[in-house]
Amino acid sequence: MIKKKILVTGGAGFLGSHLCERLLNEGNEVVCLDNYFTGQKQNVVHLLDNPFFELIRHDVTMPYFIEVDEIYNLACPASPIHYQYNPIKTVKTSVMGAINMLGLAKRIKAKILQASTSEVYGDPEVHPQPEDYWGHVNPIGPRSCYDEGKRVAETLFINYHHQNNVRIKIIRIFNTYGPRMHPHDGRVVSNFIVQALNGEDITIYGDGSQSRSFCYVDDLLDGMIQFMNSREEFIGPVNLGNPGEFTMLELAELVLRLTGASSKIIYMPLPADDPTQRQPNISLAKSELGWEPKIPLEEGLKKTIEYFKSI
Ligand code: NAD
Ligand code: UDP
Repeated sequence: MIKKKILVTGGAGFLGSHLCERLLNEGNEVVCLDNYFTGQKQNVVHLLDNPFFELIRHDVTMPYFIEVDEIYNLACPASPIHYQYNPIKTVKTSVMGAINMLGLAKRIKAKILQASTSEVYGDPEVHPQPEDYWGHVNPIGPRSCYDEGKRVAETLFINYHHQNNVRIKIIRIFNTYGPRMHPHDGRVVSNFIVQALNGEDITIYGDGSQSRSFCYVDDLLDGMIQFMNSREEFIGPVNLGNPGEFTMLELAELVLRLTGASSKIIYMPLPADDPTQRQPNISLAKSELGWEPKIPLEEGLKKTIEYFKSI
């Protein structure tokens, strides 16, 4: 018997495609909605034979009508080169996408989860970042279309909750990696692996001392789905990420060791407003959900390297 009917926006992307697969495996009916800006049909083609899976080309900046029990709102480019390609469109996707999906959730009384981001903390002055830190974002910088768009989306979620009793859940995702990242999407993990496997130079931006905390996709999805199913009053925002923190130089050296590549590390200019450090405080996810990531960076990188070798 089908458990729930679930809409996943951005479902043909990296995280969305894994989420669709998980939700189907758990016995749900899944509608995947995507405009294929950064996602691709290839990510979900293996699901098309499943009669409980439906794939729809649609842009979330336009209203969409459907009856479902739950909505996971993931539609938004996530890589800096993609979200900066058309910054106005990025804001529209976050803000109008949130308005359209919240309006839908309100009408059909669905529960809705927003994929927010650690970027709401900007270049953080508090380390590690707890959920009650308000952040340090440049509102007119090159990352603002994404950061501020996601911040407004959180504002919309909380107000639809208070004003219209919409059942909401907000997660703040910290850098997540794994199979099905787009090989040219420009994020650091995919860049370094693809460069190493092709014997090209590894491009470190800046001096490589900036840090990130990398979460493997399977761990993230455990947390995301557990949170969606958690008690109604627990609406977040909740940080989901792996607290293991690495500099970009450490990451480059690890990728070189695991691939056995002899690529040279080269240094390129640091993009404006690139956060200097980032690490999630996950106490809230631990205490409320009993969730914490299990897959260390080295293990997750090995799986991701295998994927990139296979494509
Ligand atoms: P992704 O780029 O692979 O996936 C985003 C998906 O949204 C793509 O399939 C894209 O085609 C689709 N999309 C973009 N604009 C759309 C629009 N207007 N209408 C319909 N579909 C649209 O990125 P991802 O890493 O899978 O990220 C998924 C979500 O998680 C995003 O909202 C992102 O902001 C959030 N997030 C991801 C990370 C991470 O590290 N992966 C970190 C923080 C937040
Ligand atoms: N980065 C890098 N080389 C690359 C791509 C990215 O050194 O080829 C750096 C980037 O400047 C940033 C970090 O890696 O400091 C993470 O970048 P990514 O785009 O993956 O994510 P975000 O900056 O949004 O966390």
